[in-house]
Amino acid sequence: MITEIIFTGTELLLGQILNTNAQYLQQALASLGFDLYHQVTVGDNLERCAEAIRQAAARADLIFIGGGLGPTGDDISREALGMALGLPLVQDPAALAIVRRFYLARNIPMPDANLKQALIPAGGMALDNPIGTAPGIVLEHSGKTFFLLPGPPAEFNKMLDEQVIPYLQRRFPDQLATIHSRVLKICGMGESVLVERLGELLNSSYPTVAPCAKEGEIHLRITAKAASKEAAVWFIGEMERAVRERLQGHVYGMDEDTLPAVVGRLLLQGGRQISLLEAFTGGQLAHMFVSDPTAAQTFRGGLVLPGNQPGLLPSGFFQGANTLLDGHGKEVAAQMAAAVRRYFGSGVGIATVGAELPSEYSRHQYQVGIAVDFEGNCQVQEMLFWGNTSQAAQRAAGTALFLLWQILR
Ligand code: AMP
Ligand code: MG
Repeated sequence: MITEIIFTGTELLLGQILNTNAQYLQQALASLGFDLYHQVTVGDNLERCAEAIRQAAARADLIFIGGGLGPTGDDISREALGMALGLPLVQDPAALAIVRRFYLARNIPMPDANLKQALIPAGGMALDNPIGTAPGIVLEHSGKTFFLLPGPPAEFNKMLDEQVIPYLQRRFPDQLATIHSRVLKICGMGESVLVERLGELLNSSYPTVAPCAKEGEIHLRITAKAASKEAAVWFIGEMERAVRERLQGHVYGMDEDTLPAVVGRLLLQGGRQISLLEAFTGGQLAHMFVSDPTAAQTFRGGLVLPGNQPGLLPSGFFQGANTLLDGHGKEVAAQMAAAVRRYFGSGVGIATVGAELPSEYSRHQYQVGIAVDFEGNCQVQEMLFWGNTSQAAQRAAGTALFLLWQILR
């Protein structure tokens, strides 16, 4: 079953509102196993909207039109559907009853403008809207099914859940399936290396495999369509095994997992606590730990320095503090990680130190030392990061967590 969605509303094109109806409908279609190949947004313009409907009808079986069912002049979805299919609009008694009920319930007279909302292209049927004035419409015409849904998200979602989905389940029982996805979370690897390692797996048409680059990590989506969720999960699992084999040591979790949550879980399992000295990351690591409920339980404490200012450390905290970053980034980071671990009495200590390097280019460049001291065994990395201070700090924090995850797993 091929579907297409048309969203109407000039405010969507101007970027004044976010198209939240899109996500809701897309997820519903995926759970029904219907394929969505195109999604179009048009402004409140009759001809362009009718044209979008004609195009959709030429390539899809099921066409959704969202928004434009209000009583005002720019609400033109009903007219556009009639125009696209060459159907007259007729007043529908059921639709009129839905509009009237809204005003009766509030004991106010119905403005004449709302009469327009009871119009339906000939052959269509009204869909109830218990929380608004705009009835929805379903119309079957020349082997295609059209749905018109009101724009306000509460009405859109309710009508979709309570009327549209049951209608589709009744009407197309043989077409039902499910499209299920699993997202693998990958760290410590760039997109080009990932593409190289996965090779032909990325061309698989069943399940499909698609990477999506995020800040500091890559999300790899594996998607399968099958008769049931269980079947889809089985096919996804087969692909997941192949992917994990090629990305050994880089898949830290999946779906809702975040790196801080996974690291927190592993620390908790091992009964370990963590402390931080952030001379480069400005509290970003601490923020990651306190923001996740599991990781927060393992967080013993941290010190944040505004850049490399060892003079601000508690006295006797760290002997070599004044040599901080005079070309010994790695070594200093290692000593600081050990020092902060002792200071807070935790099993694990992380330190980040860094400095901006002179750069010929307009973008900033930072040399950063990251150390993880795990019960006296220290792993250190020295890295270069580009971007502004906050981006570099965020990447350094992500790298530190990844380093810790590699040690813990
Ligand atoms: P409409 O029925 O197009 O006049 O829209 C009614 C209300 O719903 C307006 O406040 C719109 O901004 C809002 N709306 C319309 N379409 C969407 C959408 N796709 N996502 C979120 N809000 C929407
Ligand atoms: Mg509108």
